Amino acid sequence: MNKKDLKKFKELLEERRREILDQAESTKEKGMNFDPDDLPDEVDLASSEADQSMNLRLRDRERVLLKKVDKALKKIEDEEYGVCESCGEEIGVKRLLARPVTDLCIKCKEEQERVERAYAES
Ligand SMILES: [Zn+2]
Repeated sequence: MNKKDLKKFKELLEERRREILDQAESTKEKGMNFDPDDLPDEVDLASSEADQSMNLRLRDRERVLLKKVDKALKKIEDEEYGVCESCGEEIGVKRLLARPVTDLCIKCKEEQERVERAYAES
């Protein structure tokens, strides 16, 4: 991958990083506004529990995504970005534009998903 593309992806990933952190921040604020003395009725309780687990999931997803973004940024630093971790082939700019944090080329990703599906079905 050439330096110009690397720079473009670096900006893209840093932008993504800011978005995740902003989102994490607003999730946290929402959590802090929760008042335990404000007892909800049964319907509200159910939906507030759903909200809570949604928030937890979101935070988990944010954490995972943030880790991926950091990893990708590190690869850009090391000039290893855009290389498939499984087969060592170039991943391809088009795929990276769609998923800048990906570790795998489309062939290896499809293979991984095929294996995961096979496991899920068994
Ligand atoms: Zn590959």
